[in-house]
Amino acid sequence: MTRISYSALESYRRCGYRFYLERRLRLCPEGEPTGAAHSTPREGAASALSALTRGSVAHELLERSDPRRPVAPRAEHVAARLRAGGAAATEGEVDELTRLVGGFLGSPLSARMARARTLRRELPFTFPFEIEAAEGSARSVLVEGVIDAYCAEGPSALVVDYKTDRISPGVDLEALCAEAYATQRLVYALAGLRGGADRVEVAHVFLDRPHEPVLAAYEASDSGRLETRLGALVGELVAGQHEPSATPGTDLCRGCPGRAALCSWPPERTGARLAAA
Ligand code: SF4
Repeated sequence: MTRISYSALESYRRCGYRFYLERRLRLCPEGEPTGAAHSTPREGAASALSALTRGSVAHELLERSDPRRPVAPRAEHVAARLRAGGAAATEGEVDELTRLVGGFLGSPLSARMARARTLRRELPFTFPFEIEAAEGSARSVLVEGVIDAYCAEGPSALVVDYKTDRISPGVDLEALCAEAYATQRLVYALAGLRGGADRVEVAHVFLDRPHEPVLAAYEASDSGRLETRLGALVGELVAGQHEPSATPGTDLCRGCPGRAALCSWPPERTGARLAAA
């Protein structure tokens, strides 16, 4: 059975053609910074540590922390985890990561997690999903993912996803989540509702701004609508529809391997540098 992760679905939703180039043809991204517009390098903190290492160590530290005993990690411990991950971090990078994890553990969302009936970290999930295939036949796929923190709160559930992006001042986090994480919300909500919760709240929390989690709530009565949305997306992906996004732009197209020549959109729409005359 075909397995589809939420991240693949999110990439596909953003641009079907880029998804095809990167995930099917395995073309490498353009040689330019791929940081999103909401994220800016921080002075004195972003020299060598890759976003991937920073993110995975932050997730690991949070996975091992206990919201019921919210103690910020010691800088030596953070430095040791970074070294274990093969990263040579600067003092500033260690301090930043220590602050991010400690900041979240002192937040109201962390306190809410501490009150949950059960709390599970790094929870893998899969659920079968049936779509209509060619000539009216049905086809099943497995939707899968891993939830950073799943909190059972009586009959309801709180799903928490940590984001370690560096957030530029003034960024509207609600708008950012609606744009960048709509599919993640959809899949997590369905995973919780299908798992038996009668209400699911999905919280995206940017560790840079731990006191401003972005929450989206879904009731059991939303299931039909969510399943329809997921079905449309999965159906297009499985059918091999790989159209360029209808709304290209510098942020979406940054780093895309198709931007220079393969994409049908002109450079002035994708932000590609025009060749000198
Ligand atoms: S340049 Fe933009 S619109 Fe074109 S394929 Fe890449 S991401 Fe999609």
